Amino acid sequence: MPWDVVVVGAGVAGLSAAMQASRLGLSCLVLEKLVPGGGACLAKQVENYPGYESIDGWTLTRKFEAAALEAGAEIREEAEVLRVIHAEGKVSVATGDEELTARAVIIASGTREKPLGVPGERRLKGTGVHYCAPCAGYSYRNKRVAVVGSSLMAVENALFLSEIASEVTLIFEEERLRAERPLLERLAEAQNVALLPNARVIAFSGEERLAGVELSVAGERRTLDVEGAFIYAGRVPNSELVDVEKDEEGYILVDCDMQTSARGIFACGGVVRRNARIASSAGEGTVAALSAAEYLGL
Ligand SMILES: Cc1cc2nc3c(=O)[nH]c(=O)nc-3n(C[C@H](O)[C@H](O)[C@H](O)COP(=O)(O)OP(=O)(O)OC[C@H]3O[C@@H](n4cnc5c(N)ncnc54)[C@H](O)[C@@H]3O)c2cc1C
Repeated sequence: MPWDVVVVGAGVAGLSAAMQASRLGLSCLVLEKLVPGGGACLAKQVENYPGYESIDGWTLTRKFEAAALEAGAEIREEAEVLRVIHAEGKVSVATGDEELTARAVIIASGTREKPLGVPGERRLKGTGVHYCAPCAGYSYRNKRVAVVGSSLMAVENALFLSEIASEVTLIFEEERLRAERPLLERLAEAQNVALLPNARVIAFSGEERLAGVELSVAGERRTLDVEGAFIYAGRVPNSELVDVEKDEEGYILVDCDMQTSARGIFACGGVVRRNARIASSAGEGTVAALSAAEYLGL
């Protein structure tokens, strides 16, 4: 028997979709290449998810997971989807181990970090150059670090690191940061965070470990001595697994029902939206499930 709905990815979008689809009585399988939670489970403090003044990302995503399971969804961990195939009105989902048929598929595979693409970055990845402060930040207690980027995530992670490192330099190419006001206020209060606007990273230096960040600051070359650098240079959508219409950056194009260009395939969350938030992803997951149910004749 095919599954009514297969959801690709157990981040907040996929778990919301799974909960809603299951509550409607659809059989629903979630395939997750790692463990449930996605990017949101790394958030130290979530303050913009309505209903909670503040909650840590791990606790919040455990609630999403529990709600999907309680509703009857099945979640398979360490199950990476390699391809979603649609032909002659049928959809199938291929993992490394098996090919499953589904009456509808919801793609909620989110995004991954975008490298800066400068010399030294790849070589020093994991030995000074990182993309996840909650994962690697604790190795830099009382050390000097840099955060690269101007987004909400860059600011949030600079604040996170300011409680661990001795000094945090936030490097960004623009004039201003693009985060929400409460975060910017907290950043201004942090004694050990320095802002470096109009600065572009040219290279990461060091042989076996990061020794410094080579910068162009307002056209002048400069070296910043830090032991760790955390890059938040944007995200890349995990959309290669399906052949549907996408924009020039690879974000899946959907209509307001989260329907993609292929019938029976829906998409939601970070894989369809730049600057996705937990609330927007959860909402879109719900819409995708409702649309899938309608498509299946419910
Ligand atoms: C450190 C951090 C802090 C954040 N803080 C906030 C915040 O305070 N407030 C806020 O609103 N937003 C915050 N965000 C952003 C928020 O987490 C995202 O908007 C949200 O997680 C997007 O949800 P998603 O489910 O679409 O994608 P994701 O969270 O990216 O989840 C996608 C899931 O799909 C899985 N996957 C990917 N490819 C495959 C595949 N081929 N097969 C199977 N599974 C796959 C991934 O492993 C992942 O679990 C933060 C993000 C990070 C990283």
